[in-house]
Amino acid sequence: MTATHVPGLPVIEDNQLISTNPATGEEAGRVPAADEQAVRAAVERAKEAAAWWQGLGWDGRRTRLLRWRSLLVERIDELAELTRLESGKPVNDGLIEITAAVEHLDWAARHAKKVLGPRRMRTRLLLAEHVGHLEYQPFGVVGVIGPWNYPIVTPIGPISGALAAGNAVVFKPSEYTPVVGQWLVDTFAEIVPEQPVLQAVHGLGDIGGALCRSGVGKVSFTGSTATGKKVMAACAENLVPVVIEAGGKDALIVDFDADVRAAAEAAVWGSMTNAGQTCIGIERVYAVAPVYDAFVAAVVEKAGKLRTGEEIGPITMPRQLDIIRDHIEDALAKGGRAVLGGADAVQAPYVAPTVFVDVPEDSSEIREETFGPTLTITRVSDVDEAISKANDSPYGLGGSVFGKKNAVRAARRLRSGMVAVNGTLTFVGMGNLPFGGVGESGFGRIHGEDGLREFARPKAITVRRAKSLLPAMTFERTP
Ligand code: NAD
Repeated sequence: MTATHVPGLPVIEDNQLISTNPATGEEAGRVPAADEQAVRAAVERAKEAAAWWQGLGWDGRRTRLLRWRSLLVERIDELAELTRLESGKPVNDGLIEITAAVEHLDWAARHAKKVLGPRRMRTRLLLAEHVGHLEYQPFGVVGVIGPWNYPIVTPIGPISGALAAGNAVVFKPSEYTPVVGQWLVDTFAEIVPEQPVLQAVHGLGDIGGALCRSGVGKVSFTGSTATGKKVMAACAENLVPVVIEAGGKDALIVDFDADVRAAAEAAVWGSMTNAGQTCIGIERVYAVAPVYDAFVAAVVEKAGKLRTGEEIGPITMPRQLDIIRDHIEDALAKGGRAVLGGADAVQAPYVAPTVFVDVPEDSSEIREETFGPTLTITRVSDVDEAISKANDSPYGLGGSVFGKKNAVRAARRLRSGMVAVNGTLTFVGMGNLPFGGVGESGFGRIHGEDGLREFARPKAITVRRAKSLLPAMTFERTP
């Protein structure tokens, strides 16, 4: 039976979570919906699976994770097509996302032993007769809660870090993309059929909340800032540590000595890829006066060539269309000028590429996450003004700087977790760099060495090996 619902809106019927294609409203697929009890049962099963998984050792886990990586590569077209069906994203966007996911899985698998393996530590004078040992011990079970906008790369980051560190994982995919989430779990089970080391639990937000309260050792959340706060509150009940990867309002700065065409290309890609539904998407540009006009013209020329319904896919979440419409209307009402798209850009489920100039800084287009294919370009006098305006945001996820002389220095001064110089979104493709934000964009890191360390607890052990001539840490007097 094929269900037809509000395009994009997931529903639960007869204990099945049904996702729909946002472009057509047709059923994309269905998975069993969990309740609170099922979440607890999954976590209990995962505790046993974790012990088995840890028993495989670093090399055993690495081999299996690399086999999973190869399977994802082998079936990349199938996964990209499934992602298109469920989230609406063009196949090309899906392929890019999967390639980045494979990089993170590969890096975590290959480096976990080196980063987290046990090591001897030199002891200092006071404890010269002791040897220090540092070990990173897994949490046991890690809960991973994911969003829909990048349903593969966003969960694969924490999942691969957590698995490589020796944890089992219970994964709650977004209710908008459960089939893609289940596909990831099923392919892992093909490689590791012995134990449920990676499981999925499906449902609406309450199932994410249940996961936080179900006895997991750590939670890695990726999603909106508002939900991130709820996840923290739920985890606080049992002092469960969290990683929060939340929203953003990233800025791109164009300095006087920038390659203007390259900057325009990056601004269009950064703001329009995935129809703007990208946490590290470029939503604001600050261009210095000498290059401003040329930059605006280049952006309009490039963005004007994008075809809605082709390169620009549908907006996955129906209620996001209202937010995008509100932001466009607010920008226009406050005196912003649309140099591309604008008032009629929202035609559900699509939004045509929209570029604004002269938008005041108190407009929601500048202050709040829009999550659509819209961009504001603001003229500034110099790079200092650009940085100060870019930093005047509660968010601080990524960002870009285009220029030569001041670009790296400007990158350091941006209040954000990641910055691309003369590029955009590039940091997401590097497995060895930490990914995460500051302020309302969250805290904690996935990817790279810092990302691996999120999923293990450092444990200090000291072992006495010889008598010392130095004063002992005891009330007994040394004879
Ligand atoms: P969302 O916050 O609505 O949902 C994210 C996940 O949280 C879903 O699985 C949802 O079911 C679950 N959830 C909802 N309520 C919950 C609760 N009370 N307790 C526990 N879990 C709950 O986010 P979304 O709409 O799926 O994703 C879009 C947002 O994600 C955007 O703000 C985007 O910027 C952000 N995002 C951030 C990153 C990053 O790495 N920083 C990456 C991708 C997306």
